[in-house]
Amino acid sequence: MHEMAIVDNLFKIINVKIKEHQIQKVLKVKLKVGEMTAVEEMTLTKCFEVYAQNTVVEGAELIIERVPLQGKCLDCTNVFRVYNYKFQCPKCESRSVEIIAGRELYIENLEIEQ
Ligand SMILES: [Zn+2]
Repeated sequence: MHEMAIVDNLFKIINVKIKEHQIQKVLKVKLKVGEMTAVEEMTLTKCFEVYAQNTVVEGAELIIERVPLQGKCLDCTNVFRVYNYKFQCPKCESRSVEIIAGRELYIENLEIEQ
């Protein structure tokens, strides 16, 4: 399962931080998730809860912030929102499009109990 692998990776990062800062309790985990990652929020949350069990992350709120898919035309430099994975510039119809947002998948911040 795609989401399970993602959560596994996230927890590797979280655990390093927990050790590094000797965190006793994590209250919130804020994630940036790009549209391109095709992550299913419900599944991600469920996996997160499973991984959080019996750790200092247990009971923490998972906040998923979605990042819309954005492209930049390499011919006319137009920046536009990509819908339905249609990578074509709406201005000049060029297909030379670079993805500039929407591939993110990272922890933006951890809110911890001081
Ligand atoms: Zn263009």
